[in-house]
Amino acid sequence: MFISFEGIDGSGKSTQARRLADTLRAQGKSVALTREPGGSPGAEEIRRLLVEGQGERWSPETELLLFTAARRDHVERLISPALARGEHVITDRFADSSRVYQGLVRAENRRLVEALHDLMIGIEPDRTFLIDIEPDVSLARGQARGGAEDRFESLGLTFQQQLRAGFLALAAEQPDRIRVIDGRGSQDQVAARVLAAL
Ligand code: C5P
Repeated sequence: MFISFEGIDGSGKSTQARRLADTLRAQGKSVALTREPGGSPGAEEIRRLLVEGQGERWSPETELLLFTAARRDHVERLISPALARGEHVITDRFADSSRVYQGLVRAENRRLVEALHDLMIGIEPDRTFLIDIEPDVSLARGQARGGAEDRFESLGLTFQQQLRAGFLALAAEQPDRIRVIDGRGSQDQVAARVLAAL
């Protein structure tokens, strides 16, 4: 089974992806836990280009090509081989992040995102968990963590609100695949919601 976690920055999706992997492994299942942008050595190199530094380094279209290149490598080198071996794959972000970040919020490029996805990626998760949270809650969590912001996270509240609306609209488009999980409360509470939805 191929599972993705999606959500705005600081939604808790990385924690929940790891917890689901731990739970399935404790049941004796083989799980490859991975993330985007990155996940394979080549894609991690592209991640460094994308996430480090400040400001608008590239046009939205060039940025989309880089995210797509990273995803292609991730699928070729890690996701498809793991699925072919019969493992479960859990990824922290996948193509829905591009639909929302590169396709909607950075620029109105949804058709371009879908065209590139069809040409270069082609696969979709069996199940996607959208960890949904109010941006002011996620920003407060980020500040509590004290972690340095990357160049996307520094874009602030309005940007995160647009992302959240974009993710929820996508979930409404594809309710069979994308399940919206209430991201409020403790890690345990959210993990229980994910398991119930699975
Ligand atoms: O999820 P993670 O924090 O590792 O993602 C790194 C950064 O890349 C985040 O700030 C996220 O907002 C951004 N990103 C993006 N487009 C994607 C995936 C991630 O702008 N398709």
